[in-house]
Amino acid sequence: MKIIREYPNTFNLPKRIEGLSKIARNLWWVWNPDGQRVFQFIDPLLWDLVTHNPVAFLQKVERQRLNAAVNQPAYLEHYDRTLAAFESYLTNTQTWYKLTYPDLIDQSIAYFSFEFGLHESLPVYAGGLGILSGDHLKEASDLGMPLTAVGFVYNHGYFVQHLTEDGWQETRSALIDYSKLPLIALMDENRKPLMISIDLPGRRVYARIWELEVGRIKLYLLDSDVDPNSPSDRQLTERLYSNDLEVRISQEILLGMGGVQVLRLLGLNPTVWHMNEGHSAFLAVERIREKVKTGMSFENAMDQVKIGDIFTTHTPVPAGNDQFPLWLIDKYFGNIWAELGLTRDQFIDLGRQVQPWGETFVMPVLALKLSKRANAVSELHGIVSRRMWQFLWPEEKEENVPIGYVTNGVHTRTWLARRMGLLFEKYLAPDWADRLDDPDLWKNVFQIPDEELWAVRRHLKNKLVSFANERTRLQWQNGLLTPSQAVAGGVFLEPYSLTIGFARRFATYKRANLVFRDFDRFMNLINDSHRPVQIIFAGKAHPADEPGKMLIQQVYRTVKDSRSAGRLVFLEDYDINVARYLVQGVDVWLNTPRRPNEASGTSGMKAALNGVLNFSVLDGWWREGYNGKNGWPIGKDMDYANPEEQDAADAQSIYETLEKQIIPMYYERDQNKIPTLWLQMVKECLRTLTPQFSLRRMLKEYTTDYYLPVIKESASIQ
Ligand SMILES: *Cc1c(COP(=O)(O)O)cnc(C)c1O
Repeated sequence: MKIIREYPNTFNLPKRIEGLSKIARNLWWVWNPDGQRVFQFIDPLLWDLVTHNPVAFLQKVERQRLNAAVNQPAYLEHYDRTLAAFESYLTNTQTWYKLTYPDLIDQSIAYFSFEFGLHESLPVYAGGLGILSGDHLKEASDLGMPLTAVGFVYNHGYFVQHLTEDGWQETRSALIDYSKLPLIALMDENRKPLMISIDLPGRRVYARIWELEVGRIKLYLLDSDVDPNSPSDRQLTERLYSNDLEVRISQEILLGMGGVQVLRLLGLNPTVWHMNEGHSAFLAVERIREKVKTGMSFENAMDQVKIGDIFTTHTPVPAGNDQFPLWLIDKYFGNIWAELGLTRDQFIDLGRQVQPWGETFVMPVLALKLSKRANAVSELHGIVSRRMWQFLWPEEKEENVPIGYVTNGVHTRTWLARRMGLLFEKYLAPDWADRLDDPDLWKNVFQIPDEELWAVRRHLKNKLVSFANERTRLQWQNGLLTPSQAVAGGVFLEPYSLTIGFARRFATYKRANLVFRDFDRFMNLINDSHRPVQIIFAGKAHPADEPGKMLIQQVYRTVKDSRSAGRLVFLEDYDINVARYLVQGVDVWLNTPRRPNEASGTSGMKAALNGVLNFSVLDGWWREGYNGKNGWPIGKDMDYANPEEQDAADAQSIYETLEKQIIPMYYERDQNKIPTLWLQMVKECLRTLTPQFSLRRMLKEYTTDYYLPVIKESASIQ
């Protein structure tokens, strides 16, 4: 079948710079500062106003400004250089993957995720899981991997957060206008949207397919807001993480079973099927069904399908796992198990778990049973996961449960401040970005002169402070804030104090309020007028998480308390944009999960590669990253039986380390007012953590430990 690709938007650009439309329509610019600056230079205010969205920018920018740019030789030089870099990136065939595995370039990898966090202008992600998927695609593009991804475009996005005067989280939906996104509509030969369909109880539900180009990678996004569907089915893909279980199971059927159809329709026949979390596990059911239809037995079909599947688990909290009551499985799969040649009980067995509240159908159980290979996302999370899922392998000892681990990483250039990149270029190597996972390269960070590093660090903190000021000014002007809320928004922030960042989802186990435990000691600590400390909080609670929202409220009340003197700040609406300012601009990144609940965590890695020092519980990635001189631990490398005891010990550890180590080291300056000991630690942090916690290291590990074994084993059964 012929597939037509159509852009839902057109631009009217001067001929000399019409290549801007090409740059705008591929997310390559997200991790290439030059690609952002070709737009920003034309109208910096508009660039901020459209949330750094090139498509919206080109639709709104005044012709006068475009003409002015065409008359600036410096701009044209920048434009030509950027367009050439973009085009040579796309056409380069000598990529790492191609050079390393020339025989395997035709064996494609499918990557499924419920959310993709690629950029703030595309709010189809909620948090860490989505950011990881987004970073995975960017790095797969950089390495030239034959990977194709499938997800959803949620037209109401994830919610926008606003806090009431009393700190109660209010939510607005982030309605997305597709014509302002770089989406490509896939159409059939009659110029009708290309669609797939799934059978749900009593009806057929359709979804159209959008394509998004992420460098060399294609991401296909499903959208049920199409004509043949009933109004309620059109809303199926409206939001992320609905609490309505019927919506949720329908979405997961659409992603898993519908997603397989998408790839088939596009003529792809992936060898590797990577499920990022269990939400997409029905993809294996669909592939078994395909084989059973051709006459294969269920057992044979399952054995073959399992070889191709890789399941990455992210949830160390049993109650946090995605699961459905059995009556829902009866309702949604009652017609399907017969097609697979199974009885009801045999089908339920694929996902059955006995819980204190009864039996449920658990998506990670399904994913584990239908994947030959599975992994956790840090070493400690691997241990926790093998313990958690051992009941599925009753004959195996815990350490032999077949769940390995690949510690997460972050896509370096997405999160790196441009000016830090310039330092790396100058002192590491001009081509440092091509070798960023090579630990040897990073020894050269000690060549960076303290003055230059400190100048960049100060610049980034200044940028963060003015970002908080300006956002608050705008809200104030729009009548959205009381004076005390303006203080909470950061009007008293200044760039000279030691500044700590704490930004993450507000779930109770992350203990955002732990620093307040000994309130007077904490207030004395931040208000020492010779050595003041500022803390910036940010984060959303899931709309249905009442304890999480109460935690935000408690933090917000303390932030607004005049005793904190404006040194505590809450930045509303944590998203990729806010995250970027924070992980680049603060001095210290604080993380206080109740161990071992943090599977990996990634925000601390983003901070580290910008020279921000981590101060965190030895959980997830930091337990592997901390080496005694590249940041600070909270508490010890041990588990507590009693949470109350754990909280008390960790709070004590926070105060002591701040008082005795972090604050004195930050404020100790040489005759040029430079904190030399601090910068020594910053360099050690850059040297050790940047290569190790890069997505490049992570993706190469997935390739050698997971993707290649799947490809080899699949070839042997052909
Ligand atoms: C990185 C990131 C996260 C995940 O960070 P954690 O360390 O896992 O809490 C969540 N939200 C946003 C916007 C991020 O950028």
